[in-house]
Amino acid sequence: MNSAATGLFELPEKYTDLQNEARELAVSMRDIAARADESSSTDPDVRARLAASGLTRLAVPARWGGRFEAVDSLAMTVVREQLAAESGHLDSMFAMQGIGSYGLAVAGSDRVRDTWLPRVASLDAIAALGLTEPQVGSDLKALSTTAVVEGDEIIVNGHKSFITNGGDAAIYSVLAREGDGYSLILIPADTPGVRTERPHQIIAPHVLSDVILDDVRVPLDHRIGEPGKGFSLVLATLATFRVSVAGAAVGMAQAALRLALDHANGREQFGGPLARLGSVPEHLASCWTDIEAARSLTYRAAAAAARDPLAGLHLSSMAKVTATETCGRVVDRAVQIMGRFGITRGTDIERLYREARPTRIYEGSTEVIFDSLAKQLIKRGL
Ligand SMILES: Cc1cc2nc3c(=O)[nH]c(=O)nc-3n(C[C@H](O)[C@H](O)[C@H](O)COP(=O)(O)OP(=O)(O)OC[C@H]3O[C@@H](n4cnc5c(N)ncnc54)[C@H](O)[C@@H]3O)c2cc1C
Repeated sequence: MNSAATGLFELPEKYTDLQNEARELAVSMRDIAARADESSSTDPDVRARLAASGLTRLAVPARWGGRFEAVDSLAMTVVREQLAAESGHLDSMFAMQGIGSYGLAVAGSDRVRDTWLPRVASLDAIAALGLTEPQVGSDLKALSTTAVVEGDEIIVNGHKSFITNGGDAAIYSVLAREGDGYSLILIPADTPGVRTERPHQIIAPHVLSDVILDDVRVPLDHRIGEPGKGFSLVLATLATFRVSVAGAAVGMAQAALRLALDHANGREQFGGPLARLGSVPEHLASCWTDIEAARSLTYRAAAAAARDPLAGLHLSSMAKVTATETCGRVVDRAVQIMGRFGITRGTDIERLYREARPTRIYEGSTEVIFDSLAKQLIKRGL
C-alpha cells in the first residue's frame, strides 16, 4: 500500500513496515524469551539480537545515529506493541533506551550527547532514568537526592529505587534537588560513588535495582539543561513515551486473547468446544472489542504525540490508562477461560498475567493520571 492510499484510520506504510520488522524480531526471540523474562539482569542474547536489529535507533534522534529526525512516539508505540506480545524483557530493553536518554537528547551539552547518544542508539550503552526513591514515588517533588555545584563539578548524593536497567546501565539520568528547583544530571555508571543493589524481586521479573549515589562528582556539563529545570525534561520524556506503554499493553492483551481463543476452540467440555459454552463466547467478543477500542485511542494519541508531545499529553495519558486497564481485564478473563491451564507456572498466559499488572502502576498510576486529567478538565473545560 502506498501512503497516498492509506485510509484516515489506518497506519501509514512507514509504521506498518516497522510493525512487521518488530514482529519478526519478537518472534525470532521465542527460543530465549521465556528465559529472559525470568531474569533480573540483562539477557546478553536478547541484547545482541535487539542491537543487531537496529530498532533501538528509533530511540534517539538522527543526529546521533537515530532513524528519524526526532524520536517518534507512534513508531515507539507500534514497535512496543509487537515486542511486548512476545517478551517483557525485550520490550523494556527497547523502550528504556529512549526513556533513559530523552532528556539528554533534548537538552544535554554537545560534548555529553556526542559521547553517549550514538552508543545508546546502537545499544552499546544501556540507559536508565532515576526518579523514584525508597520513600518517594508518585509525589516526585518530595524527592531528597541533592545536587550541589562545587567549582566546575556537580556533586550528587541520594538513593534511587526501582530503577529499570539499574546495575546494567552505562548511564543514569537522575533527578535531584538543586537549590529551589530540580535538575536532571547525567551520571555515568562507572563514576566513583555510584553503587547498585538489587533488593527487590517483582512478580514479573524485571531488570531493576536501587542506585546509591555517595558524593558522586561529575563535570558541570553533565547537568542536563538549565539548573532547576529538570522537571520539564521529565515531563517532556513522559509526553513522548507514556503512550508507548499503551502500545505494550495492547500487544499483551492481544497475545492473551489469542491464547484464550486457541484454548477455547481446542478444548471440549460438556460435549462441545469451550468457545461455545455459557459466557465464554461473549467474553471473547468483549475482549476483542475492548482491545480494538484501546488500540484506536492508543494510535490516535501516539500520532498526536509524534506531532507535538506536550500538546497531546492528555490523550497519551488517557490512552495509557485505557490500554493498561483493558489489558488487566483481558488478561484476567483469558486466564479464567483457560481454567487451571491459565494459572500454570511457566506458560505464556501466566507470564502475561504477571507482566500486565505493573503497567497500571509505573509511568503514572491510573489514579495519579485521573487526578491530573481531572484537574486539567475542571480548570480548562473541554
Ligand atoms: C516494573 C517497574 C519499573 C520501574 N522503573 C522505574 C524507573 O526506571 N525509574 C524510576 O524512577 N522509577 C521506576 N519505577 C517506579 C515507579 O515509577 C513507581 O512505582 C511509580 O511512580 C509509583 O510510585 P509508588 O510505587 O511509590 O506508589 P505511590 O506513589 O506510593 O502510590 C501508590 C498508589 O497510591 C495511589 N495514589 C498515589 N498518588 C495519588 C494521587 N495523587 N491521586 C490519587 N491516587 C494516588 C495510586 O493508587 C497509586 O498506585 C518502576 C516501577 C515498576 C513497578
